[in-house]
Amino acid sequence: MIEVDARGVVEFTQALVRIPSTNDPAKGRSELPAAELVAARMREWGWEPVVYEAAPGRPNVVAVVEGGGGDGPTLMFEGHTDVVTEGDLSTWTVDPFGGEIRDGRLWGRGSADMKSGLAAALYATRALQLAGPFPGRIKVCALADEEGLMIGAHHFVEQGLAADVDGAVVAEPEAGEICAVAKGALRLRVDLTGKMAHGAMPQHGRNPIQAVGTLLVALRGLQEELQGRHPAHEHLGEVYVTPTVVSAGTEEQVNVIPATASVFVDVRTIPGVDHKEVTDTVAALAAADGITAEVTVLVDRPPVDVPLDTPVVAALAAAHRDVTGEDPVYGGVPGSTDGTVLTHWGGVPSVVYGPGGKWIAHQADEYVEVDEIVRCTRVFAETARRFLNGELS
Ligand SMILES: [Zn+2]
Repeated sequence: MIEVDARGVVEFTQALVRIPSTNDPAKGRSELPAAELVAARMREWGWEPVVYEAAPGRPNVVAVVEGGGGDGPTLMFEGHTDVVTEGDLSTWTVDPFGGEIRDGRLWGRGSADMKSGLAAALYATRALQLAGPFPGRIKVCALADEEGLMIGAHHFVEQGLAADVDGAVVAEPEAGEICAVAKGALRLRVDLTGKMAHGAMPQHGRNPIQAVGTLLVALRGLQEELQGRHPAHEHLGEVYVTPTVVSAGTEEQVNVIPATASVFVDVRTIPGVDHKEVTDTVAALAAADGITAEVTVLVDRPPVDVPLDTPVVAALAAAHRDVTGEDPVYGGVPGSTDGTVLTHWGGVPSVVYGPGGKWIAHQADEYVEVDEIVRCTRVFAETARRFLNGELS
């Protein structure tokens, strides 16, 4: 087994958690100081990180660690440096940016999602490097804005940095499950335009609010139709079509038929569901007599479905078995991750695996088990060794 710096990876996670790297310009916060800490640690180890500005003040940090052991594939470890807001402080019983360790747990915002995973990726790569030459190379990437529009991952792919990557491990908290599938997300805005009129003379107008009602009922039907055609996925569950925002008219104008109305729809998909087809269907359902409907795609992240015999998944499963002595448990990611971007737009097979519970992310009193950080670092080191040497079973 490759020896890892157990103390180092835990202390580095603490140091990362102590940086409030939410994206909040009003508070003067961004990923920048967390990215700088990552880059500094890489330089201490003699790596040569390159910093790319995904957006002003929002850096991606990428270091390529050559194994020096001859030709071989390129493995990518990916983590994000941003965290979601701590929210209402009164709901926390610990300092969200204290990085405190108590009861065998490391507490704080980002401890699970995903500063421990990012630290594990760095320390695993360092451990493999110190263990001697290896074939190929490891690209260690700390990207910006996963919790937002994933501009970091998109920028990474647009810069061509995914082109030479043969497999990616995304270190999101998945409670030790190996997640090679992820749900898709499609967010649509439907704008309905009718004709404004006085409430006393509705016959002179065309009411988009009634079209909203028709559309909401039709969306429920669409969900049933999709669920019927695409049975629940064993790791991802059902397809959902959920209206989340409806707006039309104003309280001050109860005697006016408004000209416009909008419906926002959050669609969660499983492999096999075609986002373009769903978008076209929503547009067709929204069109009503005398009302024009325009559908805008706000977010389009397709589902991920990487076969389990793909080298990066197989190497991870074997490494998990080596380190934990237990059979791997396969699961699915309920939302999208940077892995969605890497796989769909970058053409890189990705798998999500990392320390921390699936459900603790984004909650108050977020924590990660200290033992789990160290165990994951070992699994990552062993994954890299197996993947780069082609020892996949
Ligand atoms: Zn995350």
